[in-house]
Amino acid sequence: MADIHNNNSVVIIGAGFAGLAAGIYAQMNGYKSQIFEMHDVPGGLCTSWKRRGYTIDACIHWLVGSSPEAQMHDLWEEVGVVQGREFIYMDEYMHIETPDGRTLTFYTDIDRLEKHLLEFSPVDAEPIRDFIKGIRMCLSFDQPSKRVSWAKRMMKRSSLIFSFMRNGKVFQQWMKTTASDFAKRFKNPVLRRALEEMWLPEFSMFFMLFTFAYLHTKNAGYPLGGSMPMSKALEKRYLDLGGIINYNKRVDKILTDNDSATGIRLTDGKEYSSNIVISAADGYNTIFKMLDGRYTDEKIKEIYDKWHLFPPLIFIGMGVNRKFDEIPFSVSGFSFPLEKPVVIGDRMRERLSVHLYHHDPSMAPEGRTAMTLMFETDYDYWKKLYENRRAYEEKKDEIAKTIVDLLEQRFPGISSQVEMIDVATPLTFERYTGNWKGSFEGWLITPDNSNVVMKPMSQTLPGLRNFYMCGQWVEPGGGLPTGIMSARRLLKRICKEEGKKFRTATI
Ligand SMILES: Cc1cc2nc3c(=O)[nH]c(=O)nc-3n(C[C@H](O)[C@H](O)[C@H](O)COP(=O)(O)OP(=O)(O)OC[C@H]3O[C@@H](n4cnc5c(N)ncnc54)[C@H](O)[C@@H]3O)c2cc1C
Repeated sequence: MADIHNNNSVVIIGAGFAGLAAGIYAQMNGYKSQIFEMHDVPGGLCTSWKRRGYTIDACIHWLVGSSPEAQMHDLWEEVGVVQGREFIYMDEYMHIETPDGRTLTFYTDIDRLEKHLLEFSPVDAEPIRDFIKGIRMCLSFDQPSKRVSWAKRMMKRSSLIFSFMRNGKVFQQWMKTTASDFAKRFKNPVLRRALEEMWLPEFSMFFMLFTFAYLHTKNAGYPLGGSMPMSKALEKRYLDLGGIINYNKRVDKILTDNDSATGIRLTDGKEYSSNIVISAADGYNTIFKMLDGRYTDEKIKEIYDKWHLFPPLIFIGMGVNRKFDEIPFSVSGFSFPLEKPVVIGDRMRERLSVHLYHHDPSMAPEGRTAMTLMFETDYDYWKKLYENRRAYEEKKDEIAKTIVDLLEQRFPGISSQVEMIDVATPLTFERYTGNWKGSFEGWLITPDNSNVVMKPMSQTLPGLRNFYMCGQWVEPGGGLPTGIMSARRLLKRICKEEGKKFRTATI
């Protein structure tokens, strides 16, 4: 239980999506909040940067809740992210080109997807049908917005309850099945590998099923303009509600007195007191550095010892004086096989996955295209390399050169059209957002922790009063919607603890 907070002051660490949303809901409920952010821009991981007239977008591929019919859309309206924003919906999630010239496409329309997969690999009819059935099961979980008629909402709710009763066990089975386990059921090697690697091998399958369900119902659109305009919209909403953001202020310690959080100390030594402290920053640093590991228990230690992280990335942004009209728009890009395996960073790669932004003209000057490439990598490899800054920079240059050479295999002539290339590593993600080991989305949902879907993680730490956490480190699976929901859940809880009615508003 929180103490009764007298003067309503709240300090929030981090101006990512979760921190800004916590500030927004705090302001809506009469708290006097201020955010301390170590970077000089809002958004945390939801970010993009400019290089030579191109925008490199490091986050948004799809935003769950983009449909005005969806319940999540109501929340996006509260925090001011969807107003005036245009979403587009692609026919493809991604496609995979094979060495023998075939193309395996993951369509966003389920019927089309089913037909194509069955044509691509008739021998896999059984697991394909199970996959499609799994996606259809998730359709009933998409709950409607307030703006949908009461009768329709009730119908949808009853169908959810009915679906739960009918499919509860199947749902649990999907939660306990990893992408890697499921992929083993496929005979076609291309399809098998695609299912294993499209997300991550150890990821629980239900996440993939839900994503395809959202894509099918056009509730996971791409916002034109990309990530940074959304972060700016969130920042504006917070400032309009009277919030204060202190940029370039890194929190070093969370201050406590008698097992109660009392404020923060910055790395410049300045201290700020408050009645409530909320950390929307990295979980590891919050618990083990800012609080020196004084408020943990076996459960928390086990989480940080054993749970799987979204892997760190080598993230490459490019600007090319070329159009790609022959490549269809897609949510996540396409991949093509290399003539022979090549080492990129710490390991051998057999394919390149390319995400073109030709669906968003704001990302590149007229007639040109922005693109990104991502590779899973090992944090320790980069950490070690970073000890010798020259070697680190040389490795980044080498990767940039290798990528251009390899793209030449698929797009002859491209090397003379590359106008910009920018290589980010796990150390870049860590430096700019503080995320532990450069992880880009916090905890994976795996069979070992899939119970968090039903029973969310705790937003408090054992033995510490007036302190809370929100964001991707207490919401396995991460993502922008969960950041908002996490902050909303938290402020609702704080209001309840103080006997106040939780209020929200929409502009
Ligand atoms: C390549 C990529 C693709 C993605 N694609 C999608 C997608 O398509 N859809 C989707 O929904 N999500 C996507 N995500 C995930 C999404 O971006 C994150 O899950 C989400 O932004 C996390 O928000 P957060 O507020 O919890 O954390 P963060 O964004 O990490 O925010 C934490 C903030 O705290 C600040 N901070 C940390 N330590 C301190 C300190 N000591 N003092 C002060 N400030 C501090 C950081 O600077 C940061 O601003 C993607 C992420 C990446 C990297």
